Amino acid sequence: MHEVDIVANTVKTWLGNPISRNLLRWVSKRTEKGSNLESALKKYAGEQKKLSLQEKLAYAIVKLALDKGSESFGVSKEQLIESLKNPIVRRGIANILEGIGYYGVQRPQTTAAPFLMVWNFTKQCNLRCKHCYENAEPKPAPDELTTEEAKKAIDDFANAGVVALSFSGGEPLARKDFLEIAKYAAEREFYVSVASNGTLITKATAQKMKEAGVQYVEISLDGFEKTHDMFRGIPGAWKRTVEGIKNCVEVGLDTGVATTATHYNLKEIPKLVEFIENELHAKRFIVFNFIPVNRGKEIVDQDLTPKEREELLDFLYSKFIDNDRKLDAFSTAPQYAVTSYKFAFGPVVATHFTNRAASEMLKGRTKSLTEFIGGCGAGRLYCGMEPNGDIEPCVFIPIKVGNIREQSLVKIWRESTVLKQIRNRDFFKGCGECEYKYICGGCRARAYAYFNDLQGPDPGCSINQKYWEKLVETQNINISF
Ligand code: SF4
Ligand code: SF4
Repeated sequence: MHEVDIVANTVKTWLGNPISRNLLRWVSKRTEKGSNLESALKKYAGEQKKLSLQEKLAYAIVKLALDKGSESFGVSKEQLIESLKNPIVRRGIANILEGIGYYGVQRPQTTAAPFLMVWNFTKQCNLRCKHCYENAEPKPAPDELTTEEAKKAIDDFANAGVVALSFSGGEPLARKDFLEIAKYAAEREFYVSVASNGTLITKATAQKMKEAGVQYVEISLDGFEKTHDMFRGIPGAWKRTVEGIKNCVEVGLDTGVATTATHYNLKEIPKLVEFIENELHAKRFIVFNFIPVNRGKEIVDQDLTPKEREELLDFLYSKFIDNDRKLDAFSTAPQYAVTSYKFAFGPVVATHFTNRAASEMLKGRTKSLTEFIGGCGAGRLYCGMEPNGDIEPCVFIPIKVGNIREQSLVKIWRESTVLKQIRNRDFFKGCGECEYKYICGGCRARAYAYFNDLQGPDPGCSINQKYWEKLVETQNINISF
């Protein structure tokens, strides 16, 4: 048996058996004072506090699980203790352990609550992007959450155990209360990030974002000036976006640059990587999959072919493993996990959720961890929220599974039939028969956009070539450019 299978089996034996699951469920039960799991994790991290009898018992269970888990994944106890001193890491581990207690050990894993919430904070935007999945407008929607409702939603996410909160849009900075809400979220110990078009980020705003507790800023840049301005619909946007990126870097914000790959910009990407690394000095380059939803439907013919996508992911991976580079290169395409997996002993790539340092640490444990994280995280590790509080499996999947004004996030997460459907990969068409289904799973948003079927094939992958060809035939998609 290969080392990675031994790791997976050990974790399954220790944490997946019914007795451990029941104990984990008991430990993670929440009271008004928090859960015993929280105090046990704090104790493990070295916090000196007198524990009640119940907490002592919880601590013994959690200690055993953590000792065994760290041993299996090759992480030293000292490293684990150091990491657990960070409240965001503690919340993450609690979410995973509670998820194992509730759902059992799965391939890939579902967490107790979304690890990441992407919040389309407003419909308002000052640009007119061709591919906008939100149909953003110059004005906000009339039914957006108020400031007080937004804070209430954040409280609910904290109680659920959500770890990371990403503000997106529209343009999140277009809302006047953005900094107030971001600060509120940071004070509630979320990992706070922002996805922005960058045009409103002056040096002063970047500084205020940093002071509010924003930890990561991701700014969209779709190519060089001519391409970007054509794509974004406003002349002069490129210059302001580049200024915004530089401002974030200069004040010391962790800054990434995001590009949606289409036929408009595919050929520019290699030069763009150089520009971002050497001129803008951002730390991360992330390529977004194009998903034909809302305004994006109008440019469906600009989608990459499976072959083009595969070549692009190979190119990005070659940049990612190049140790002379300071730039981390990623893609939200779940097939990126397959690209990395093909280099069997290379770093693990978890698409949306990792960085180079973490990947280095996890080297050699590629299979078990990629299967744990599982590529597409929609409805399993992550979900989206619209400006009016509607919850969706992913911001690119316009299916309402609940509303935060009416239900708690945990209730929606546990009871939604749509989310249950999206978690079960064995019934997916195309992707369900693929050997990489637990590593990748295909982008569910693309399956839904192209086939109106959440369990349909992701046609952007060469293994699903026949479905792509069918689309080209029936929907007149242009495969050459
Ligand atoms: S067929 Fe589906 S699951 Fe397999 S690699 Fe392609 S997109 Fe991923
Ligand atoms: S459906 Fe999955 S892969 Fe596609 S954008 Fe959403 S989270 Fe990413």
